[in-house]
Amino acid sequence: MATTKSKLIGGNFLFSETDIKDVFIPEEFTEEQKMIWQTVHDFCMKELHGLGIERVALMDAEKDRDLVIELFKKAGELGLFGVSIPEEYGGMGLDFNTGLLFTEALALGLSFATTVGAQVSIGSLPIVFYGTHEQKEKYLPKIATGEYACSYALTEPSSGSDANSAKSQAVLNEAGTHYILNGQKMWITNGGFADIFIIFAKIDNDERLSAFIVEKSFGGIEIGKEEKKMGIKSSSTVQLFFNNVPIPKENLLGERGKGFNMALNILNNGRIKICAGGVGGIKFGVTKSVEYANQRIQFNQPIAQFGAMKYKIGQMAMMAFVNESAAYRVGAEVDKKYKELLANGASENDAKINSMREYAIECAILKVQGSEAVCWAADEAIQIHGGMGYSMETGVEMAYRDARITKIYEGTNEINRMLALAEFYKRAFQTKELKINDAMKSIPMGIAQNFNPFNNGFMADEDEIVSNLKSVFMIITGAAGRKLKTKLVDEQEIVMNLADIMAVAFMAESALLRIKKLNADKESDKEQLKTKIKMTQLYVYEALEIARKAADNAIDSYAKGVEKFTMKRVVNSLLKNYDINPKDTRRAIADVVIAANQYPF
Ligand SMILES: Cc1cc2nc3c(=O)[nH]c(=O)nc-3n(C[C@H](O)[C@H](O)[C@H](O)COP(=O)(O)OP(=O)(O)OC[C@H]3O[C@@H](n4cnc5c(N)ncnc54)[C@H](O)[C@@H]3O)c2cc1C
Repeated sequence: MATTKSKLIGGNFLFSETDIKDVFIPEEFTEEQKMIWQTVHDFCMKELHGLGIERVALMDAEKDRDLVIELFKKAGELGLFGVSIPEEYGGMGLDFNTGLLFTEALALGLSFATTVGAQVSIGSLPIVFYGTHEQKEKYLPKIATGEYACSYALTEPSSGSDANSAKSQAVLNEAGTHYILNGQKMWITNGGFADIFIIFAKIDNDERLSAFIVEKSFGGIEIGKEEKKMGIKSSSTVQLFFNNVPIPKENLLGERGKGFNMALNILNNGRIKICAGGVGGIKFGVTKSVEYANQRIQFNQPIAQFGAMKYKIGQMAMMAFVNESAAYRVGAEVDKKYKELLANGASENDAKINSMREYAIECAILKVQGSEAVCWAADEAIQIHGGMGYSMETGVEMAYRDARITKIYEGTNEINRMLALAEFYKRAFQTKELKINDAMKSIPMGIAQNFNPFNNGFMADEDEIVSNLKSVFMIITGAAGRKLKTKLVDEQEIVMNLADIMAVAFMAESALLRIKKLNADKESDKEQLKTKIKMTQLYVYEALEIARKAADNAIDSYAKGVEKFTMKRVVNSLLKNYDINPKDTRRAIADVVIAANQYPF
């Protein structure tokens, strides 16, 4: 395994074993952090769910945004928008992982979560990360209280995934005092009522974007009609039209031409938050579903007692658990990296920027996994509710429609899968931050140790499977890269397969590390641990299934003859059968959830 000076290297999970001492698990959240969760949770219960389905349904009323504005003001008064803003600028200055916990709790706010997300994340973090002291002093205190609503404007009608091809242009006026902005943006969250826009545009004919802090009061911004959307209807989404918007020169954010990097880095932040929000959404879905399933009688018994329903409940709970394990593991790494960079002399801004950038691979993985899990869970929540799930009366169909956007924004899931792999290749072969060659050397050893019958420590089989998943990723990625070279970029189907293998290795490892740490901790709740072990085992079982399919697809797509035969033999030997009973495992998980009548972990 590679030895490195710092343990905090994004993507390094593929080549190194993480010591349980170094991993953060959600059970370690402090009372103070839990209070943040509770405050946001209580806010959503008091202002929405506690007031009944009519109030919740208002979140779906696209014509009437009064409720959102009302909630926005109340959230601002409570100080909720200061979550990531440093204390010296009027915020709470919380660490990154607490910010994730905040996002998880906010999922209960339904589409209001998107409104708040745009305020505390993509709309204000560009200033927190890249702003000058003067810019921070001017804008952040008002953003923290909600006096200023903000938004992030990157996408244009002709540039979505290909964001750097944006056409909006800013030209310095003759007096040299203002940039004059012209152009158009599309799909801008909070755009309908924002006071501040972070706008990405090209200065003159630059190849790369720059970023600007633009106040609505500067004039020249025309706000388009609210988009009619499938979900998150209470969230404002509009087009913006710029007609000679005068932006004071000092409102250039960061350096000229560095806006695209900034945009991507801010999206790293948004991506991991999508996973944390997904965790909140799935937990909520589990609770709603199990409450319904426990009281709905068919064939003289609660539907919760049917195996087909237990399958869904057990699976949903497992997905919340695994995504939670992975999201907060990465969140804590970001915090540690930030401190490490500060200790090494980095400025506050650079430490924030680079700690986030470090984990671009993990953020992309989490975005895809969290969004796909929450969409699946929302769909199954409807199924558990039967016809009532399809009715607007329960609010579940709204959650299903709301969840769907998470696969699209903050970079589509296709783009994020490609990004995870591209970043891996960059780090392994260009910057050489990841010691791929050393890792490749250790793979034959990994194969030789496959399912060592003498390795009978706690979760030894699962440990080996995780190690083998990583080996499979390395073997196929290495072989496909050697064979296809730069053409691999065009073989996106294979790239997707590789990204999926990488992802399940990371997710499985995260859950496994969590229960290993809990097992080693004398104080941990051992009764709960039994179910947490089952959830990890179930995920490992599924990870193998996903990896087998993806590996077969990849190999069948690029290899032929002897190479194909050899690759398949190696991969099959690594991804051997894992002997658990998935039905009993899911049922055991579901039984605990059903008895608690909520998500209890
Ligand atoms: C409700 C909502 C809110 C939003 N909020 C904001 C916001 O606040 N600020 C903002 O700037 N943007 C926002 N967006 C925009 C969002 O980020 C984009 O919609 C998203 O990045 C995808 O861009 P697109 O819609 O142009 O799709 P396209 O880029 O046209 O993609 C269409 C399809 O093609 C695929 N595709 C594209 N390029 C490739 C490729 N190279 N290889 C393979 N497949 C590819 C995509 O994965 C997708 O499946 C929002 C969008 C919505 C719907």
